[in-house]
Amino acid sequence: MIIMDKNHKYGLGSVTIHAGTEGKHSTHHPVNAPVYLSSTFAFPTVAHGAAIFDGTDPKGFTYGRLANPTIVDTEHKLAALEGADEAVLFGSGMAAIATLTTAFLHAGDHVIADHTLYGGTHSLFTHTLPHMGIDVTLLDASNIDEVKAAIKDNTKFIYFESPTNPTLRMVAIAPIVELAKEHNILTAIDSTFMSPILLRPLEIGIDIVMHSATKFLNGHSDLIAGVIIGKKEHMDMVRMQRVHLGGMLAPMDAYLLGRGMKTLKIRVLAAQKNAIKVAKYLKNHPKIKKLLFLGFDDHPGHELSMKQHSGPGSMMTFHLHGTLDDAVKFVNGLEMITRAVSLGGVESLISHPASTTHSDLAVSPEDREKAGITDTLMRLSVGIEDVEDIIHDLEQAFDQM
Ligand SMILES: *Cc1c(COP(=O)(O)O)cnc(C)c1O
Repeated sequence: MIIMDKNHKYGLGSVTIHAGTEGKHSTHHPVNAPVYLSSTFAFPTVAHGAAIFDGTDPKGFTYGRLANPTIVDTEHKLAALEGADEAVLFGSGMAAIATLTTAFLHAGDHVIADHTLYGGTHSLFTHTLPHMGIDVTLLDASNIDEVKAAIKDNTKFIYFESPTNPTLRMVAIAPIVELAKEHNILTAIDSTFMSPILLRPLEIGIDIVMHSATKFLNGHSDLIAGVIIGKKEHMDMVRMQRVHLGGMLAPMDAYLLGRGMKTLKIRVLAAQKNAIKVAKYLKNHPKIKKLLFLGFDDHPGHELSMKQHSGPGSMMTFHLHGTLDDAVKFVNGLEMITRAVSLGGVESLISHPASTTHSDLAVSPEDREKAGITDTLMRLSVGIEDVEDIIHDLEQAFDQM
């Protein structure tokens, strides 16, 4: 039996396939672990039950909201992949963030977060946490002096995303880690956009990594899941809070996530290879006003991305020439590239923030402008289809503008 933990000597491709497969070491030696579709677990004797409950039998299971063998297998895979002690799975990325923040922050504590956050996270930090008596400062985390100036005696946590949605603004991780360590503050990053293949936050010194596993980790756009990854002492607190808030992932979805992750490395690299070709095609296209792609040196975050990531990834954003009407004609004209929010799946997805995630209903025109979101801005998550087909689809949609 291969044990793959954070000290493994295996590459990430091998880890995604072989880590977290303890479940296959059952009586019948299946090559693939069975899925434990069970809400509760029997105790062979009273003594067994007692040992599981008091922790002397750490391998035992009791009730599905606390733990399940399929969940544990996928958590082991995620921990090994990120190079951490432990991972804790949730029924969504938002359940993961809500559980993480409320596990560490209490009334009277102060938290610093970057001002550009995923919509649900932004709402959690500006409504839910303040309602609980937690003091929240949102600021530009890419400006380390601003972060330094915001630190108070009761600052417990710094939370940010990098790169941020949708303009792929970069936040430098190392200076935040250094500052936080000086002040004994925990750091957490939402690392969804790059995946563990392209960004290794724990190796830079971040304490806690969060992913919406809905995106690249699962990669097949067929489930919602989230994960928190880090040191055992921190994950014990997160797991306890998961028991209380109840945001557990379902076993079948944990199985599908583990299955999806087996191809994470080849998917991420294939999508990135396609994205570089698509970006080259778009860069000088007459219909494009401006392209934002981390792989090109005209992106303000390019240099930092080269240092912080092992590749530019497969997300890009572009502003079209013309009006909202032109943008709508272009998006409606696409045949293969799918109009949808979300990202990181095998299929190319395009989103038009001005009519969806950042519409007048969701975001004020001032905030939209501050975030650089114009009426013709598009976010493209490049998939792993044949790249010629992606480019052809874009070309025929441009012709309809
Ligand atoms: C999707 C997403 C989330 C939320 O995750 P869900 O799985 O949808 O709950 C959080 N952060 C980022 C960057 C995301 O893209």
